Amino acid sequence: MELIKQLPQIFEEFAEQKKQSFLKLKELKEAGVPVVGAYCSYFPKEIAIAAGAIPISLCSYENSSVIEAEKILPKSVCPLVKSSYGFAVTDRCPYFYFSDVVVGETTCDGKTKMYELMAEFKNVYVMHLPHTQSQRGYELWENEIIGLKEYLGEQFQVVITDEKVREAVRLCNQHRRAMKRLCEVMKLDPVPVLGQNLFKVLNGYKFRLDLEDIAGEIDEITDRILSEYEPERIGKRPRLLITGCPIGGDTEKIIYAIESNGGAAVAFENCVGVKMLDRLVDEEDENVYRALSQRYLSMGCAIMTPNSNRIELLGRIIDEFQVDGVVDMVLQGCTSVSMEAVNLQYFIDEEKRIPYLNVTTDYSPADIGQLNTRMAAFIEMIKERKPAAF
Ligand code: SF4
Ligand code: SF4
Repeated sequence: MELIKQLPQIFEEFAEQKKQSFLKLKELKEAGVPVVGAYCSYFPKEIAIAAGAIPISLCSYENSSVIEAEKILPKSVCPLVKSSYGFAVTDRCPYFYFSDVVVGETTCDGKTKMYELMAEFKNVYVMHLPHTQSQRGYELWENEIIGLKEYLGEQFQVVITDEKVREAVRLCNQHRRAMKRLCEVMKLDPVPVLGQNLFKVLNGYKFRLDLEDIAGEIDEITDRILSEYEPERIGKRPRLLITGCPIGGDTEKIIYAIESNGGAAVAFENCVGVKMLDRLVDEEDENVYRALSQRYLSMGCAIMTPNSNRIELLGRIIDEFQVDGVVDMVLQGCTSVSMEAVNLQYFIDEEKRIPYLNVTTDYSPADIGQLNTRMAAFIEMIKERKPAAF
């Protein structure tokens, strides 16, 4: 990537990444490279890479596919499940189409049952995810990771050696380090870029296929942002953290509602963002599967019980990014995240003592007006609490 390009252009390129990667994936597929599709951050992509396959994120963020899914699935299911299934059953997700296998995981009930239905028309391999981060849970997940390795080895007729897995671990850790460093530019106050632009890179990177080049490209973007930083370009704004259900596609309306009403989305503790990047896989552990299990199962997703890792991470983000307020995005039908909001709000109100806003939404554009009204009022309230700051 040439550095003479303007930063906004770079962000747009990442936003377009999904479309560009489709053609490249088609070429790779024709050359005999296997593809492994997945939906969830618990998917240990290192195993797919070690098998010589391309790991790819599958489409799950559009309202149009929700409408298709509702012809089959109950309307009360969360839009992420409906959108994933809708894309799959109508063959509208090219990444799903090209996937030799879809790796699912028993996270929430909606997704678990969706994989059963999906298996009627696709090769689906389900990993059994423990919901607690106990010693036994880590051992179970380690065995599930080994099970995936054996399954992919058999499917693709390759021997997946421990050394290949270690190489994949090093590569994915490089990505995580680079992405985390990029996220950390938002610690600057005022912010150097808007969160909506940062998000384009965070989300677009999931569709990059040139795995060896990712870390270098991300580092270049980070260096550019830092070297071209002008505090007055965006100016002081209330700094908001977005947490909750996975965000992307049609739910980016939350980010736009924040930033078009004078706030800045400084951090994402959703599945695209700091949660995914916070922990590395221990490269020194002599048992690489144990190291993978430790890293993946430690993620603080709301399907874990108890879920103290999420609270710990949120506390750190709030302090390190000087967060003024938290927006908790709950997708309609997501019991885990909506129930966890009770503890989360208590922690933010009582321990962090900053404003909290719970936004329950879906993928439709119907609530954009209401979202703008609520976000404007929330941001105004934050400004009134700190009149000297803005
Ligand atoms: S929120 Fe949890 S279950 Fe959903 S994609 Fe992220 S890690 Fe997976
Ligand atoms: S948002 Fe909630 S209900 Fe939907 S797939 Fe994720 S965990 Fe399941």
